[in-house]
Amino acid sequence: MDIVDRLAKERRARLGAERLLEQKQRELFAANEKLALHARALSEQIVEQRHMTKAAVSEAQMLKGQNSRFITDLEAAHTSAVMAERRLRDSVNALHDGFAVFDDKHRLLVANRAYLSPYADYNIGPGTPYREILKLTAEEGMVNLGEESPAEWVERMLARWDNDPIPHETVQTTNGQWLRLVDRRARDGDMVCVALNTTQQMRIWAALEAIPDGFVLFDREERLLACNQRYKEIYPESAALMTPGISYEQILRAGVTAGVYADAAGREEAWIEERIGQPLTGPIVREQELTDGRWLRVLEQPTPDGGRVGLRVDITHQKEQQAALDEARKAAEAANRAKSAFLANMSHEIRTPMNGVVGMAELLCDTGLTEEQRLFAETIRSSGEALLVIINDILDYSKIEAERLTLHPEPFDLERLIHEVAMLLQPSARERGLDLMIDYDLFLPTRFVGDVGRLRQVLTNLVGNAVKFTEEGHVLIRIVGLENDPGSQQLHISVEDTGIGIPADQLEHVFGEFNQVESAANRKFEGTGLGLAISKSLIERMDGSVWVDSELGQGSCFGFRLQLPIAEDQSAPPDPVLLRRALVVDDQFINRTILERQLLTCGMQVTLCRSAAEVIAELARDRDYDVLITDHEMPEMNGVQLAEKLRETGYNIPIVLFSSNPAVAREGSENAQLSAVLQKPLLRSELYRRLRGLTAPPPAPRPKPPQTAAHRAMRVLAAEDNRTNQLVFHKMVKDLQIDLSFADNGREAVEMFADLQPDLIFMDISMPEMDGKEAARAIREREIGTDSHVPIIALTAHAMDGDDTSILASGIDKYLTKPLRKTAITAALVAHCPVDAWPVVDPEDAQSEVA
Ligand code: ADP
Repeated sequence: MDIVDRLAKERRARLGAERLLEQKQRELFAANEKLALHARALSEQIVEQRHMTKAAVSEAQMLKGQNSRFITDLEAAHTSAVMAERRLRDSVNALHDGFAVFDDKHRLLVANRAYLSPYADYNIGPGTPYREILKLTAEEGMVNLGEESPAEWVERMLARWDNDPIPHETVQTTNGQWLRLVDRRARDGDMVCVALNTTQQMRIWAALEAIPDGFVLFDREERLLACNQRYKEIYPESAALMTPGISYEQILRAGVTAGVYADAAGREEAWIEERIGQPLTGPIVREQELTDGRWLRVLEQPTPDGGRVGLRVDITHQKEQQAALDEARKAAEAANRAKSAFLANMSHEIRTPMNGVVGMAELLCDTGLTEEQRLFAETIRSSGEALLVIINDILDYSKIEAERLTLHPEPFDLERLIHEVAMLLQPSARERGLDLMIDYDLFLPTRFVGDVGRLRQVLTNLVGNAVKFTEEGHVLIRIVGLENDPGSQQLHISVEDTGIGIPADQLEHVFGEFNQVESAANRKFEGTGLGLAISKSLIERMDGSVWVDSELGQGSCFGFRLQLPIAEDQSAPPDPVLLRRALVVDDQFINRTILERQLLTCGMQVTLCRSAAEVIAELARDRDYDVLITDHEMPEMNGVQLAEKLRETGYNIPIVLFSSNPAVAREGSENAQLSAVLQKPLLRSELYRRLRGLTAPPPAPRPKPPQTAAHRAMRVLAAEDNRTNQLVFHKMVKDLQIDLSFADNGREAVEMFADLQPDLIFMDISMPEMDGKEAARAIREREIGTDSHVPIIALTAHAMDGDDTSILASGIDKYLTKPLRKTAITAALVAHCPVDAWPVVDPEDAQSEVA
């Protein structure tokens, strides 16, 4: 049993195991099936996964690439951020101005080098409280605290940060720098601080404060940018307003309202208008008077940006000085005029006795004298005349100075005037062997309106100087003109000489009063040095100008320009010259050309020769000349000798000789048979007259008028208080057939007038009791109702001007200037001799005497 059982058991167990196996096999199969399904799905999945992984891998790879680029960029960005920060730090550190940032607890976050530099030796850095920095600054004496204690200063500076906005603060460091603290709270509570170094501006500003004048600067909108303290002090009334930003107009208005500006009174708005609204185009300088008596000089200048900068200088003191100077100048001028008037009066007084000296000496010379006595008398006369010239100069000069000189324009003949001046100086020129020539522009009119007396004076001075300062050669007076306005001529009159000349540096000097060239060559000439000063003043009075040109040792040329109206020429046109051909001889080139032009203008043909020999040769070649015009003074053979030679050879051509000394030429020249002897320099009209005379038959000699018993002597009354002058006058007319009476003063003259019925009255002007002018007026009154008019000739001692107008106004016809000359008196007597009286002198003599 056991075994069966064991077998059955075993079989059952086996069967059970077999079934279980079967079951398991089935399950396994199913599971296998499932698994296969799964596996398939899985493999599908895996394939898919693999695909996906591949894609993911490539995507990851792509991302990885991108990522690494991103990282590089990030790194670059980081580097440049670091760089930028460094640069920023460097830049901030490079700033001259201090820069710092504090956090909201007022602890330092960051600061640049400039900010930290004063604290280099202290432990200041991020985290240091602001208070500590201030304390250190104050206690270590880094800034000027002024009146404050370090603690006060620290507290004040801290308290400053409680304001909004925080006011700026300027501190001065003890090493002379100026810092302007500009602090601002940021939105996050940080405090951003800047310490601007304003040392340069402060220096400029300190300088502007230091200048003594007011300084002001406006912008282009005319708003105040800055002004110094001085500017405010100058205008205290508007000083309170003067803060930056205020307009120029507001400042002006404040001043105007306060009545500060003297010239604004009564026209305030217009005054302001003139000063604002117009841009400044250039610098202006003006003076401003303030109502409190101060004077300012206002200088304004545009600035490059369109603003204006101005200075105000207080010139009150200068103004006062100027006023004082003006006063002093006026006083000095008055004194000077008084001095001149005194001088004028004095020279006038001196002249009167001098006339006696000169007149008497002249008379003395006419008496029988020994050689020695004659020499003495001549010397007295010439010295007296020289003295009179000097006195006249002083008188003229003082008259000009005293402003008592007036001009008396009248029609006159300029050519004749120049001729007369030349004639007057001819004797001195002749003495030195000088040629005195006139070149008067042929197309220039001769009659003008001007003060002939004064022109004569100027010409006499210039020609006189030329003769005086020339040892040899010539003096040439040249007159040209330009008609720039119809009816008047711009005249150029020059006097050229070949004398000692004037050094260039003295040319202006010679026109000064009492000025002469200082040189040994000049010292031997006499003179006062007044002539040119007077001439210059006179010409300038006539609105002309004087000039000089000179070369030392070569000669001088003095001249003047003058505009003169042309006077109507009433004279009838002259008869034509009928001669055809003229032969002219002169060794002087200038004279030859002048003559040539003069002859050509009257229609003649002219042949010029340089010497007598040339004339002889020319006449041998061609005899067909109508006239020979010859100079007297020629080297080798002179004019007279030439004429004699020609006469000897049988030539009968008319010969006209011109000479600087006609008397000498005439003497013993009978053989020369001269048709005319003319005075050099030649007056054009005189030359033409003579040439015309050569064609006309000589006039029949005038029979001498018989001195019948029916005739009477000319009655002459002379009023003169001075005995010497009476004597001189008397002696001068002693050879004349006149009936002369003297009155001692004006009153006597008037009384004598009625009884005497004089044909002519000579009237001294200054006389006691009744002067000449009064007497003349009284006589004219007495003549009213009668048809008589006695000629009255005044005798004046170079009267002060203004006088001559009043002289003529008083009824005087004419005046003669003292010293009295025999010729002038004789001429006056001849001119006024009535028909029923004996001739004063033989008419023939009178011509030569008066000419
Ligand atoms: P005065 O002749 O009386 O000295 P002026 O005023 O006429 O006074 O002249 C002043 C000075 O000018 C003269 O002294 C002389 O030195 C100089 N001068 C004038 N004219 C001439 C001239 N033609 N040649 C040289 N020097 C002259």
